[in-house]
Amino acid sequence: MPAVGEPIDLPRHLQRFPADAAILTTGALTTHVQSYAIVLGPHPITPRILAHEFGHLLGFRDAYVRGYEDLGKDGFQILEVSTDPTDIMADPVAGSVQVKHFEMLLNKRFDKTPRVSTDIRA
Ligand SMILES: [Zn+2]
Repeated sequence: MPAVGEPIDLPRHLQRFPADAAILTTGALTTHVQSYAIVLGPHPITPRILAHEFGHLLGFRDAYVRGYEDLGKDGFQILEVSTDPTDIMADPVAGSVQVKHFEMLLNKRFDKTPRVSTDIRA
């Protein structure tokens, strides 16, 4: 057990769970998907963002592109381009789960390779 304030060794932490199950746990600095786990950070999370992250566990990929530019003392400029603002995998804030997602699951037309997502939404 880590001491209070000590970072959690996430790969080691995730090994404590069954290997053949999806995992929902805490311990990350920011909410993200790692292998078959949603690792929650300390910030509030909306149901849509949680659904987006669950979509990653089901094999769906992000449908947006995000770029960063370091502006030095002014922080970072973030540019995000969504392919479909109605799609929860393209816009976790306003998008929705769509019929096509169910069809893709039923037809298994998506990549099942575990993904690491670094979605950061506060
Ligand atoms: Zn994502």
